[in-house]
Amino acid sequence: MMRMPIIAGNWKMNNTLKDSLSLANHLKKSIGNVKHIKVIIAPPVIHLYPLSLELKGTNIDLAAQNLYWEKDGAFTGEISGDMIKEAGGTYVIIGHSERRQYFGETDETVNKKIIKAIESNLYPIVCVGEVLSEREEGETFSTIETQIKGGLKDLTEDQISKVVVAYEPVWAIGTGKTATPQQAEEVHEYIRKMINDIFSHNIATALPIIYGGSVKPDNIDALMAKANIDGALVGGASLKADSFIRIVNFS
Ligand code: PEP
Repeated sequence: MMRMPIIAGNWKMNNTLKDSLSLANHLKKSIGNVKHIKVIIAPPVIHLYPLSLELKGTNIDLAAQNLYWEKDGAFTGEISGDMIKEAGGTYVIIGHSERRQYFGETDETVNKKIIKAIESNLYPIVCVGEVLSEREEGETFSTIETQIKGGLKDLTEDQISKVVVAYEPVWAIGTGKTATPQQAEEVHEYIRKMINDIFSHNIATALPIIYGGSVKPDNIDALMAKANIDGALVGGASLKADSFIRIVNFS
């Protein structure tokens, strides 16, 4: 497969700085030199810079969990793409369901953030996913279609080629319920077909589409066996070194 697998850990709003440094140190020792898989961790943004020093010289990349779309100015409390880059970030998660749910993110803000992230030389990890009622009412694909069309609106081929898409069914996040590998694969395939139709075959073939939603050591292998699942965005199981390492070492 031409797409390199990506395993990304989303630490959310967890860990003291000491915890973050210690976890990063564990990861560095066992998976710091992994080459055939892109390993990414997304700590709280205030830990980015110290972790960038801890992880210097390793193959583990850092991500922020959010950014603001303006370059700079009077936006109290916000963090720009350039600041993330300067602090050692390479990726940025955009449109995570928790941000959509609690902080009013919409496909429109997701779109602005993607464009800004790329301008700041960051790779956006763009999250999409249906809530439980949408799945139950048979609206999964139409929800995904709206989020992909709105989020990726007017991106150039050059811009879309920097994007990672994360399919995260909201009902599977932090709930212990995982989509079955088949349920996830169907949506990943659908997203790839949309990208093929909107952009091109080559762009669709190269696009990494990763799955998120209660990924654990005991379900990663079956998920990764699917043709269109290129990796995982891992929440809870990324907070412990041994479970995250096992996920990175999927077979
Ligand atoms: C996430 O936060 O993106 C996530 C998938 O969380 P969890 O693995 O805990 O479900």
